[in-house]
Amino acid sequence: MKEPFLSALPIIEDIQNAGFEAYFVGGSVRDHLLGKEIHDVDIATSATPAELKGIFSKTVDVGIEHGTIIVIIQGQGFEVTTYRTEAEYKDYRRPETVAFVRNLTEDLKRRDFTMNAIAMDNNGELVDPFEGQKALKEQLIETVGSADERFQEDALRLMRAVRFVSQLGFRLEHQTERAIATHACLLKHIAVERVMVEMVKLLDGPNKSEAFNILFTSGLYKYLPSLFNEKKVIDATMKYQISSLNEDDMWLLALYLADADDHAEELKSWKLPSKKIKSLVRAIGFLNRRHLHEWTSFELFSAGRETAVLVETVYQTIQHGSLMESVTLINNRFDQLPIKSRQELAVTGNDLLSWSDVTAGPWMKELLEKIIQAVLDNDVSNDKEEIRRWVKVCGLL
Ligand code: ATP
Ligand code: MG
Repeated sequence: MKEPFLSALPIIEDIQNAGFEAYFVGGSVRDHLLGKEIHDVDIATSATPAELKGIFSKTVDVGIEHGTIIVIIQGQGFEVTTYRTEAEYKDYRRPETVAFVRNLTEDLKRRDFTMNAIAMDNNGELVDPFEGQKALKEQLIETVGSADERFQEDALRLMRAVRFVSQLGFRLEHQTERAIATHACLLKHIAVERVMVEMVKLLDGPNKSEAFNILFTSGLYKYLPSLFNEKKVIDATMKYQISSLNEDDMWLLALYLADADDHAEELKSWKLPSKKIKSLVRAIGFLNRRHLHEWTSFELFSAGRETAVLVETVYQTIQHGSLMESVTLINNRFDQLPIKSRQELAVTGNDLLSWSDVTAGPWMKELLEKIIQAVLDNDVSNDKEEIRRWVKVCGLL
């Protein structure tokens, strides 16, 4: 067994020694069987949260009402969830109450897809009552039990199915695919925050072209918050080479394709973090300018490397241009800028004040911009004394 299972192994063994069952479950087992990198290890157990707290000295309650606590060993936290069923679903959402059970198969049965319903014990032995390994081998995404019922129970699974297509490049099993189209409208019952989490993963996946194809053919896109609920956005997205684009690239591309009046509002409707919204709204400004002309040094400087690369990536995607070449070019041009941020400028507003009798005011900002422009154009070197002389000679102060 390898990391991160190895670090979590003592938890499984401590639970077993206390007379209960414990298994690795969910995404970590799936990704392990696929030979992929594993991010978070989930453990399922027959012990209740109260019983777990009797076994481990350091625990954190995160979702105790759903039977989940975090057990901390050697400074590392692991999610441990009591076997449960989700008997009652209301309004096509996650159930409010859960029933703890003592049987692993019952717990695996409530999971969304067969590939996510495999358990692995401390010896690496698998428990796979729903033929998840077969699905992995056939690269199939198939619901555990009736697809119609499973999507009606929790409509978030509609989005989860499509994001797994994007991440794994698997096909949807026939009934599962049909049921997504039939139940697409149920997505409107799901909290935006949960849809956003799946969308972000979808946008980051290498097979997002196929995922967009499914969003479109199933009609699921119509029930997304904004941007991606527009046919013209989905249509255009499918025409571009998007496989290597990341999440931010995709949001920016969608903003551009949707051509909306209020970019921030569109992004807010997805409940994206405000920092991300701010940086994307900034980026669309640069993208619009990029459509007019090549980057000026001042634009590169103002955008910063990260935004410049983001904007150039999306611009080249729209132009069907060469991504690698253009991004390398932008990086090289950025490397050659005499200053890369305002902090690197050798003078500050206080310097300007000390050089003149005039009181502080908007002129300082204007002059600083002129100085930055001159430094970027190599008209003056980034040296305090030289800048002072240049400012005097040009009569700017
Ligand atoms: P990732 O690698 O992105 O974390 P994951 O499959 O681990 O993918 P999680 O959201 O971490 O996804 O969920 C862990 C496990 O919980 C899943 O593998 C699945 O067994 C189960 N699960 C998660 N969400 C649902 C759901 N909406 N309905 C049923 N089972 C779910
Ligand atoms: Mg997970």
